[in-house]
Amino acid sequence: MGIDASIRNQFPILDQQVNDRKLVYLDSAASSQKPLVVIEAIDNYYKTVHSNVHRGVHTLGTRATDAYEGARENVRRFIKAQHHEEIIFTRGTTTAINIVASSYGMEHVQEGDEIVVTYLEHHANLIPWQQVAKKKKAKLKYVDLTADGRVTIEAVKAQISDRTKVVAMAHVSNVLGTINPIKEVAQLAHAVGAAMVVDAAQSAPHQKIDVVDLDCDFLAFSAHKMCGPTGIGVLYGKKALLNAMEPVEFGGEMIDYVGLEESTFKPSPYRFEAGTPIIAGAVGLSAAIDFLEEIGLENIEAHERELARYAMAQMREIDGLTIYGPEERVGLVTFNLGDVHAHDVATVLDMQGVAVRAGHHCAQPLMRWLGASSTARASFYLYNTQEEVDALVTGLRQTKEYFS
Ligand code: PLP
Repeated sequence: MGIDASIRNQFPILDQQVNDRKLVYLDSAASSQKPLVVIEAIDNYYKTVHSNVHRGVHTLGTRATDAYEGARENVRRFIKAQHHEEIIFTRGTTTAINIVASSYGMEHVQEGDEIVVTYLEHHANLIPWQQVAKKKKAKLKYVDLTADGRVTIEAVKAQISDRTKVVAMAHVSNVLGTINPIKEVAQLAHAVGAAMVVDAAQSAPHQKIDVVDLDCDFLAFSAHKMCGPTGIGVLYGKKALLNAMEPVEFGGEMIDYVGLEESTFKPSPYRFEAGTPIIAGAVGLSAAIDFLEEIGLENIEAHERELARYAMAQMREIDGLTIYGPEERVGLVTFNLGDVHAHDVATVLDMQGVAVRAGHHCAQPLMRWLGASSTARASFYLYNTQEEVDALVTGLRQTKEYFS
């Protein structure tokens, strides 16, 4: 199945007016919209399957457990992990990275050690490491970017040393849309015995991921950015690492034997899934994966890149408009319109029905690196069209006039 209008029709939310204009939703990098198959999968789960998992011997309990563990298996297959124990359901990317930082990070990083990140990290892949560095008196080192905002292997090499214990890096930048050389960086990290942590929040929705090929130790992503529901995400980790890690939350479901003073814990993934898990969320994520795969991630990626190229070509014609980042990128464009504040740009666009993001995009160090207090960002997904890009460009021209 390729990308055509029939895909857009599967997203009921897109068929509405906003401020008396046709909605043009260009904020999928923040959160994507949901197709009917995902909405119906969750609806059906609650109407016909729901019960708690891993506990009951009754039929619904078994059905719910099968649905939940089936979703785990689907995620495993989706990112080509080798074992189902390597897939932990979390609340999202942020929670997943926090688990790695507060468990693996706190155990393996000691005073004087180093954690390597880049200037383009989302705060979700920065603050947890800042906290580890602070608590352990370790050093947080930043990989510099090229003038157009790319991470090079040379720049990574310059920061890695034999004190490096963790290298944490976004697969794709949520601001610049650049794709980082994770596989090569993982090799550099492993050469000094460091763990490679990948923030795949902006790559999993758009491109095929193969954790064995990347050879990363941990990888995190969120369902809501890939047509799935909010409130669920995934932490992938290598089985041996996960089973050696301390759980971060304690309670039901994650225990093995409970004594009066001491308890023992189940192996991964359950040791990291304390309490009743996000069952309906997992079902929704699994349906989203099926949906994306039926269309084909390569088709989705090609479609979005084409829209970004088409947008950039027209946006460059607008006097005073600055586009940040290199030509080679995924389907998003971050920009400023002269000295008009990004929030004003987004507000005037919204009056025309066009939804874009404005602000620091949870990447304040990158904003400072760019020399901008804030930017606007248009991000494209499989349901967007060239006509919507045209609406954005028309809106930007009107915004410019409005403030001139
Ligand atoms: N990392 C990147 C690159 C992101 O773009 C985002 C969300 O915008 C996150 C992490 C955090 O994702 P979540 O809020 O779903 O935990």
